[in-house]
Amino acid sequence: MQTFVTRLELILWRKQQHEAQNQIGFVPTMGALHKGHLSLIEKACQENDQVVVSIFVNPKQFNQSADLHAYPRMLNADLQLLKHLNNLIIFTPSESEMYPTNVPFNPMSLGKIGRLLEGAHRPGHFEGVVHVVHHLFDLVQPHQAYFGQKDFQQLAIIRLLNEHYRFGIQIIGCETIREIDGLAMSSRNLRLAPAERQNAVSIFKALSMVRNNVGKQSIGSVIEAARSIIEEAGLQIDYLEIVDPVTLESCAEWQEIQVCCVAAFCGEVRLIDNMLCESVL
Ligand code: AMP
Repeated sequence: MQTFVTRLELILWRKQQHEAQNQIGFVPTMGALHKGHLSLIEKACQENDQVVVSIFVNPKQFNQSADLHAYPRMLNADLQLLKHLNNLIIFTPSESEMYPTNVPFNPMSLGKIGRLLEGAHRPGHFEGVVHVVHHLFDLVQPHQAYFGQKDFQQLAIIRLLNEHYRFGIQIIGCETIREIDGLAMSSRNLRLAPAERQNAVSIFKALSMVRNNVGKQSIGSVIEAARSIIEEAGLQIDYLEIVDPVTLESCAEWQEIQVCCVAAFCGEVRLIDNMLCESVL
């Protein structure tokens, strides 16, 4: 495992790898690594000659400065967690290395998909994600890049970015890794007080209930019931929608496959999760 902090180190390394025709996998993260991140990194290590993991808490994708400041940072523990993996480069740039003033960026239009769900509730968030991932893709120039389905809408936007800027990278969506009780693993879970941690599982319970009731009751009544599960546990829902997995637009009726997407505040901590819900009819 090697750690790079400058763009130059990464660029020189990447050129060597391309010359040697090594296949590069890439996993962008914001650190405070957990088993969800590790599943992406281990898959990338299995499927590539070399893997780059970036650890950078990207200020541009936080629409609230309190959230940015509270975001957990634990680089030493992250490095410990990865030290057993071979052929791994950890890229931990400073903000000025990530966003040098002389590197141009032409923002893309995110279209309707960028205005729904997270886009509607966290203005500027996806613009920040696109900016950082654009720069990282440009620097690393990987063959394959790995993203979690936990951030379902982000994954859709990364696919758009890849096409728009013609990176030609294979984008690989990876399943959501959960705690034993079902709570989706997230760096933000570290901020939950013990009682909040118990209540947070209501999100998974609500999603599972939706999945088990596809087509059995009206979509409206299933949404109502799902909202009640979360609200009765004391969380505040930002949105809970059952959407088309491609357009991410709300479904008025059940279809063969849909995804239930939730964002809710558990105390101060905003959690998101989703679940694919298939019709058994
Ligand atoms: P983050 O550090 O939160 O930006 O996440 C980095 C990557 O890990 C993103 O592609 C996330 O979707 C993915 N990820 C986060 N949590 C999980 C999880 N519980 N299971 C699988 N992937 C995850």
